[in-house]
Amino acid sequence: MRPNKNILLTFDYEPYLGKKSGSAKKCVIEPTNALLSIVKKYNAKCVFFVDLLYVSYLKKIPDLHLDFEAIKAQLILLNKNGHFIFPHIHPHWIDSVYIKEEKQFDLSNLSRYSLSMFSVSEINDLFTEAIRLLNDIGISYNAYGYRAGGWCIQPFCNFKDIFLRNNIISEFSVLPGYKNKSMTQAFDFSDVTTNKPYLFSDRVEIPDIKGLFKEFPISTIYCNGSVVLQDKIVKKYLWKTGDRGWGDGISADTASFKSNSNNQEMISIDILTIAKLKLYKSYINKNDYMHWISHPKMFTHHGLYTFEKFLKYCHSHFNVEYDFNKMI
Ligand SMILES: [Zn+2]
Repeated sequence: MRPNKNILLTFDYEPYLGKKSGSAKKCVIEPTNALLSIVKKYNAKCVFFVDLLYVSYLKKIPDLHLDFEAIKAQLILLNKNGHFIFPHIHPHWIDSVYIKEEKQFDLSNLSRYSLSMFSVSEINDLFTEAIRLLNDIGISYNAYGYRAGGWCIQPFCNFKDIFLRNNIISEFSVLPGYKNKSMTQAFDFSDVTTNKPYLFSDRVEIPDIKGLFKEFPISTIYCNGSVVLQDKIVKKYLWKTGDRGWGDGISADTASFKSNSNNQEMISIDILTIAKLKLYKSYINKNDYMHWISHPKMFTHHGLYTFEKFLKYCHSHFNVEYDFNKMI
């Protein structure tokens, strides 16, 4: 009997959220197509958390009409192919500035980066707008999932009623062991140690077997010194050969996505290199649940190549489940 493994592939479908948003083509359309050409070979279903305020700005600005149509067509295709399309909210779009000559946005005003800077009624309006847009595109669900922009999902009491009102049942923002407290972004998941989905009711970080909501914590992996060193060498080579990541924008100056201080990092295509493949394989051998968090804008060709090698390995050793609904 081959062991069963839950591999949850999640993606934040968004442009860059700093000084320059980058183009829709380079930040989402092209890298997502490259991903699809891989996942369809394995019939792997993914969850895309779409930055819907971004999409709503594309829709509102006549210059960006073609970008809106391209994204809309891609989301419809993803949905048709069995991938999930859920909201992902970055509220600082409200403070963005459109740079007409570049057809891009400047999102460097981060004073309202976190939803905790907004009142509950304002948060409610943002969720309503996001889900309405998704429905207008033709995508709707009986039960939705959500990932918070910048992992800012605390305190959950600000969200609970909004989740209930919008039928959002599954939550994907908890990053076990991580904590960040800055002017722009705050979260504290330092007490979460579980690496399995759990139920919760009032606080995302506290499991409650009677809870109405489901939490799918993001998986992290420890890279030892020699892996870190080999990884640096591979990255240097990739940089030299021009494989530097797909997107063409500039990141926001918020918490470093990659890693915390002690070489523990998120499981992600964004930062995957061949130097880590053995480690990833060993992780899936030891764990039944592996929740990836990736961003199309950050893909390299090499990262996708390595990701495919990983999928190939999993399919030859395990029965793989990709549907999060079957993981809890
Ligand atoms: Zn995001």
